[in-house]
Amino acid sequence: MELLAPAGNRERLETALRFGADAIYLGATQMSLRNFADNFSLPQLYEACTLAHTLYKRIFVAVNAFARDSDLAALGDLLRGIADAGADALIVTDPGVIRTAQKAVPDLPLHLSTQANTLNAEAALFWHELGVKRIVLARELSLAEIGEMRKKLPPTLELEMFVHGAMCVSYSGRCLLSNYIAGRDANRGECAQPCRWAYELRERKTDGAPFSIEQDERGSYVLNARDLNLIRHIGEIAQTGVDSLKIEGRMKSIGYVATVVNAYRMALDASERGAPLDERVAAELERASHRPYFTGFAFGDPGLMGQETRAGGYVADAAICAVVLSYDAEKKLAYLEQRNRFFDGETLSILSPRDAFRSVQVSGIFDAEGSAIPAAPHPKQRVAIGCAEPVKPGDILRRV
Ligand code: SF4
Repeated sequence: MELLAPAGNRERLETALRFGADAIYLGATQMSLRNFADNFSLPQLYEACTLAHTLYKRIFVAVNAFARDSDLAALGDLLRGIADAGADALIVTDPGVIRTAQKAVPDLPLHLSTQANTLNAEAALFWHELGVKRIVLARELSLAEIGEMRKKLPPTLELEMFVHGAMCVSYSGRCLLSNYIAGRDANRGECAQPCRWAYELRERKTDGAPFSIEQDERGSYVLNARDLNLIRHIGEIAQTGVDSLKIEGRMKSIGYVATVVNAYRMALDASERGAPLDERVAAELERASHRPYFTGFAFGDPGLMGQETRAGGYVADAAICAVVLSYDAEKKLAYLEQRNRFFDGETLSILSPRDAFRSVQVSGIFDAEGSAIPAAPHPKQRVAIGCAEPVKPGDILRRV
């Protein structure tokens, strides 16, 4: 199975590739559903595709916003630019975008976005007959339903399913809450995430006083969905016959991308070897920023377990302190770019591809002039540290 990871910009792309993704999905600067990610201009996309292909990996470009006629006018040129940049597939939702793509870039494979909410084999066949090569399944399907669908579909149609990340309280993001409350259109990449906000129930006749429902002083997060986490179920997922495991999160940080991709890489490798999941690998996902986890719809309707009504925030057991630029094995010095303040003498965990379980004590921090300093306080500050454990460029040091 393919491990498919998100990338909101070049740095996250490099991180996802380095930490074990087989393929990356990202957005061009227009018509993707993450307008607030940095996204990729066509020259940046060309560089991204070149890098991925050098590593025998693939790039899928999301053009999955719902389009109006005014959007379609310039779409052909954008799609030709994406194809010329070397993209391996387009992720699409809107039938108008599909028709435009088939005229402008007929050789570029089409993946149907989860926004199309494909829930049954007949719908999947409908899209396949129209030229779609892969279906990104609706998050609302159980593993049993996916397995049954797979049996009814030809091998020429690939299936991709989400295994990790944020869930929408609506059907896979076809949601008007943000349009209604914040004037920002979720179906055009501008969701303000009002489902995460605190709400109160009020009774009109009692002067607007809060009604008696379970809530704390910040309100009740009645719409706040938990985050999906299927790392313990890779073997069962493999038995359904899906082709690709998708991690959500084009807006996420490099720390999130590195931690989650690394954990799923190790879990997938173990599953393919027939080895049990190392509990330390599953625990890694607690270190990435997340809402309380659940298994989504994989084992049926989660009911109230799907919502976290007590709080709307994220938790994470780790914070990134620095990214490794290089390592001098003779002097045992690691050269770093700072991401969060850290101190001399601190013990930091090393996050390295397929290896997340070593740590090292910082034995001396040295600024650009080589002077010893007690801490690395400045964002993106370049420092050297005494580091007895060998590290590699791109490794991440974090406080756990
Ligand atoms: S408001 Fe919430 S449920 Fe609606 S699209 Fe945005 S994240 Fe999804």
